[in-house]
Amino acid sequence: MNICLFGGTFDPIHKGHTAVARAAADRFDLKKVLFAVSDVPPHKRSQAITPYWDRYAMVALGIRDADDKRFIPSAIELEMNQEKGAHSFSYTIDTLERLSKGLKKSDRLFFLIGIDAFMDVAKWHRAEEVLRFCDFIVASRPGFSLADVAHALPASMQPSAHVMKPFVKSAVRGEFVHAGVRLHLLDKVNVNVSATAVRKAAASKRALNKYVSPGVAEYINKTGIYRG
Ligand code: ATP
Repeated sequence: MNICLFGGTFDPIHKGHTAVARAAADRFDLKKVLFAVSDVPPHKRSQAITPYWDRYAMVALGIRDADDKRFIPSAIELEMNQEKGAHSFSYTIDTLERLSKGLKKSDRLFFLIGIDAFMDVAKWHRAEEVLRFCDFIVASRPGFSLADVAHALPASMQPSAHVMKPFVKSAVRGEFVHAGVRLHLLDKVNVNVSATAVRKAAASKRALNKYVSPGVAEYINKTGIYRG
């Protein structure tokens, strides 16, 4: 069975997230997509983030509205951090290792990520191990080029100049295997929505329907979480 981890801040979950997850599930025959809400301790935050359970509640509502049996909300990061104790922090590699322990031999683990987030992958903790751990699905996003995907790899994994050209060409066709990394590109996902835009719209009391599902819009309006 193909199982996919889709990590994110989800502050809040929006139509871009569900569109990407649906396209990935269809293209790669994913039977489960785990929407894993990131639990970032205060000392690791570069900006204020909405409390965990508000974000988790919105993920649950967004998934219910998406009405897709393959989508599952996951609190795996919070669970892992709580087990480790106060002020601890789980990295992506920890989450992948934990998840893989529960898999059967016949299962295949994927990691879904937008191209904007993938561009930072070289800075991740144990980046090379993460990249070799499972199959990566990198999704297109308005404003970013999937052709840049090779440049995002850590220096030690960069294809040399003479293979870079075919790399980019074949990568754009859909899949590339290099230095133990299995990258699948998911193009044609073109939903121009970001969580930043949702928060801004909510703060200025604009309608949220074009960004988020009805249940998520209702939660944001009722709680006033983005009104400052
Ligand atoms: P923010 O605007 O606060 O930075 P965001 O919209 O990027 O948030 P995240 O929760 O940070 O949302 O994203 C989680 C994952 O979903 C990331 O891998 C990101 O690249 C991907 N993603 C988010 N929105 C889109 C979109 N519209 N199209 C493709 N991928 C997306």
